[in-house]
Amino acid sequence: MGMRVAIAGGGLGGLTLARILRRHGIDAVVYERETSRSARPQGRSLDLHPESGQQALAAAGLAGRFRSRARPEGEEHRLLAPSGRTLVHHVPDPGSFSGRPEIDRGVLRDLLLDSLPGDAVRWGRRLIAASPRPGGGWELTFQDGHRSSCDLLVGADGARSVVRPLLADVRLSHVATLVELTVVDADRRRPGLAELVGPGNLWCVGENRILAAQRLGDGSLRIGITLRPDGRPLDTWRDKRALLDLFGGWDPRLTALIEAGDGRPAPRAIEAMPAGTRWPGRPGVTLIGDAAHLMPPVGEGANQAMLDGAELAARLAAGPADPEAAIRAYEEGMFTRIGPIAEMSARIQAMMLSPTAAADLVRFFTTGPAEPAPAG
Ligand SMILES: Cc1cc2nc3c(=O)[nH]c(=O)nc-3n(C[C@H](O)[C@H](O)[C@H](O)COP(=O)(O)OP(=O)(O)OC[C@H]3O[C@@H](n4cnc5c(N)ncnc54)[C@H](O)[C@@H]3O)c2cc1C
Repeated sequence: MGMRVAIAGGGLGGLTLARILRRHGIDAVVYERETSRSARPQGRSLDLHPESGQQALAAAGLAGRFRSRARPEGEEHRLLAPSGRTLVHHVPDPGSFSGRPEIDRGVLRDLLLDSLPGDAVRWGRRLIAASPRPGGGWELTFQDGHRSSCDLLVGADGARSVVRPLLADVRLSHVATLVELTVVDADRRRPGLAELVGPGNLWCVGENRILAAQRLGDGSLRIGITLRPDGRPLDTWRDKRALLDLFGGWDPRLTALIEAGDGRPAPRAIEAMPAGTRWPGRPGVTLIGDAAHLMPPVGEGANQAMLDGAELAARLAAGPADPEAAIRAYEEGMFTRIGPIAEMSARIQAMMLSPTAAADLVRFFTTGPAEPAPAG
């Protein structure tokens, strides 16, 4: 019997891995804690980079479907001063598909899910424990009492991975607080705001605070307020009044984005692993994506998660007789690739939440095209 791969987590990384393994005839099953593909709204839009996310989709045989669903015009971005003055307005070449087109996260996840046979993803299975079996491989226990076993366990279970502690003892740090709001059907209900945000991303950076908004493919606006953690409880930011108080003196067209949000603001802690985290290899288990390298969200995490999936799959497919060597080669390559990206992401995050952020960002947008754009 061939190698059986269990993937904990059906996010972008886990699904990319499963898809490419299956294309190579390797038995891979994804265990996902959510009960269905629509259990949780997938929110926001991502831009996929040619050298990472798009390359992974090509290896998955999904480049054509990606092109038909992506929004190159979503690359447009605007940087405003708190006064409302435009500092940067970047408009991509019309019709060009050379850059980093945007795609809604939900659309991308559906594209991967639709490429897998129905039995490849087991919904409603939250992994709670994995113990090594005497002859090699792992015994898996799920919250609903279900058990199963595998030869190779891949932790693709995101920021709070339960597989990660098998390999590394990691402390997450709270790098920012993100408060999100949505305005659905913005063109009809809030045409002025839709116009202000445009087809892509808008940022406005103040002292230790960022107001950002992006347009999604479904016609809604996603508004994100990023704050430097200051010890106040997250629940403080469920109140629009408290949020608006932070933006006193800003152009009312900008604060109108907060006022327009449907329902209550949703705050969450943004966490990161120390840059440079690695682990000594352990037989039969590895990590991809946020489980392996949780970074501040400045536009790389999903791209790198998908590339991890593609690289691990390629190694396993090329050397099925020696999966341990394949895993070690994947890990070495991943550590080398991620190190500088994690450091850069930490630097950009710190820069964006600094008192001089606005001036720094203008310089970044006008002189630093090789670096990834912040993801709002
Ligand atoms: C606000 C924000 C904006 C971002 N913007 C961008 C961007 O523009 N570009 C970009 O590249 N990246 C962006 N990122 C980062 C990106 O979202 C992540 O890096 C990416 O989703 C990681 O993919 P993953 O597959 O590793 O993990 P996830 O997408 O987190 O998927 C993990 C999956 O595992 C499941 N799971 C968790 N625990 C268990 C368990 N115990 N058992 C079973 N299943 C489990 C979860 O339900 C989930 O489906 C952003 C992140 C944030 C927070």
